[in-house]
Amino acid sequence: MAAFDDSAFDNHERVVFCHDANTGLKAIIAIHSTALGPAAGGTRLWSYANDDEALHDALRLSQGMSYKNAMAGLKFGGGKAVIMKSEGFVGTDALYERYGEFVGQLNGDYVTAEDVGMSVEIMEKVAKTTKYVAGLAQQGGQAGGDPSPKTSFGIFTGIEAAVRFKLGNESVNGLTVAVQGVGHVGYFLCQYLHEAGAKLIVADIDGERVQRVADEFGATGVGLDELLSQDVDVIAPCALGAILNEHSIPRLKSAIIAGGANNQLETLEDGQRLHDAGILYAPDYVINGGGIINVASEYYADATDEEVFDRIAAIGPRLTDIFKESAATGQPTNVVADAQARKIIASAA
Ligand code: NAD
Repeated sequence: MAAFDDSAFDNHERVVFCHDANTGLKAIIAIHSTALGPAAGGTRLWSYANDDEALHDALRLSQGMSYKNAMAGLKFGGGKAVIMKSEGFVGTDALYERYGEFVGQLNGDYVTAEDVGMSVEIMEKVAKTTKYVAGLAQQGGQAGGDPSPKTSFGIFTGIEAAVRFKLGNESVNGLTVAVQGVGHVGYFLCQYLHEAGAKLIVADIDGERVQRVADEFGATGVGLDELLSQDVDVIAPCALGAILNEHSIPRLKSAIIAGGANNQLETLEDGQRLHDAGILYAPDYVINGGGIINVASEYYADATDEEVFDRIAAIGPRLTDIFKESAATGQPTNVVADAQARKIIASAA
């Protein structure tokens, strides 16, 4: 395991390995930057092939959170944690409470919330042993709760900005959107799109989830391998990362890629490939910032639920700025966004 040499290390401030023999907890907390505030980012519960894979995932997600938080205009640096689902893993209350203790030992340098595999119920267990946690059940009209619907709202406003910029359409009404993955984020995104008059094509490895959006929003299910080559206006990746690569990009027929999955580009060059193909790519960490905006509003207790929606609506104009700068400079949108994020972090540091 070569942490400092990992391609995603990128000057991480701190990486903490957490182990507890009694509960079987194995976790890695990666703190990329605290320049803008406490390093904030969710905890992912996942099965990894080995420790290297878990470390790499924590590092690249944590670096991504620095950029995401900066671009969302939050007083948060970037961090992320993974809990490894090793063989025989049992998610006991004691394990999550022990994890909370590890988070607490960082004295607020890392603030956690849910990511893939976690839930509000699990975060409540983590919160028994640390106060540096968000994504807890909503209290009254205040910000809080599962961030996924807020993430989906942000993606929806981002898709609207993208279709306005690329297609000249004022709304998604009558357009077709292909959604890859209809879990937490994909489901609520389908709801927003359906209510706005878009037609939906979806794929998910879980057939019941496909059936639910077919029943509720009239979506058409297609095979997993068929989704990316659909002849649609927008593809919204809302499953896992690295799906835009040298193999998939030549098959794309849509004008726009705008979805919630983290780390959609397998490599930086894939942003250039999309740009060269004339496909407008909404940088993932900008368009999917709605959840962390909700988390920040909850953590700092400075907004009602209604006000959070207003803050998230700023994602649309933010993306339009990136699209315009990309068009003016000829640089791919991911390169423009990375440069903007690094500038914000550097000016705070
Ligand atoms: P989720 O686990 O609820 O949903 C993911 C869905 O994708 C599942 O239904 C799964 O069956 C499906 N899936 C997995 N592999 C697939 C494949 N090859 N093809 C089609 N479907 C597939 O997770 P989520 O919370 O909805 O998050 C989705 C993505 O959005 C993740 O990349 C996550 O990191 C990112 N994200 C989530 C949030 C949030 O608020 N939940 C915020 C920002 C980013």
